[in-house]
Amino acid sequence: MLYSSESIERMVELFSSLPTIGRKTAQRLTFHILKRSNGFVEQFAKALLELKENVKYCSICHNFTDKDPCPICSSPKRDNSVICVVEQPSDVMAIEKTSEFLGQYHVLHGVLNPLENIGPNDIKIKELLERLQDVNEIILAINPSIEGEATIQYIARTVKPIGVKVTRIARGIPMGAELEFTDEATITRAIEGRSEI
Ligand SMILES: [Zn+2]
Repeated sequence: MLYSSESIERMVELFSSLPTIGRKTAQRLTFHILKRSNGFVEQFAKALLELKENVKYCSICHNFTDKDPCPICSSPKRDNSVICVVEQPSDVMAIEKTSEFLGQYHVLHGVLNPLENIGPNDIKIKELLERLQDVNEIILAINPSIEGEATIQYIARTVKPIGVKVTRIARGIPMGAELEFTDEATITRAIEGRSEI
């Protein structure tokens, strides 16, 4: 055992199992938590449990939500004839931050990836097709990557014959970059400059 306490050891293990957190940061977080008040730690533990208990997927757009349908799907102010298709819930947040897009969203929860055996049935493509009555346009705001490109082409091929316009956001977002980490002005420009496939 590296630490003088099994509890510390366990906490460091848990933290370092999270994305982007290495062992050093895990140790720093653990020691930091030890210095905080009991009240804070109780609140933290409770928030973790409640997060898992309360947050579910919206049955329409598949974004995270406490209430189903989510606030965006149930808002009368949103334009239901345009659906912006994204990979992850974090992409919805990135686009919402611009306050420029007033349509609806659809979260795929991944992209097609034959090497990892992720096919059309493993992401929310069927659910997208089921939403297309009364929809005029779907905007594909999928992160630029080889898998993203394959997903864009697959959706375009499947959706266009139904008579729905399919567009993709402009390539202001560099290959390999993610919407989540792109600034609002660039996202706004990319949506405005979208082109039909
Ligand atoms: Zn929703």
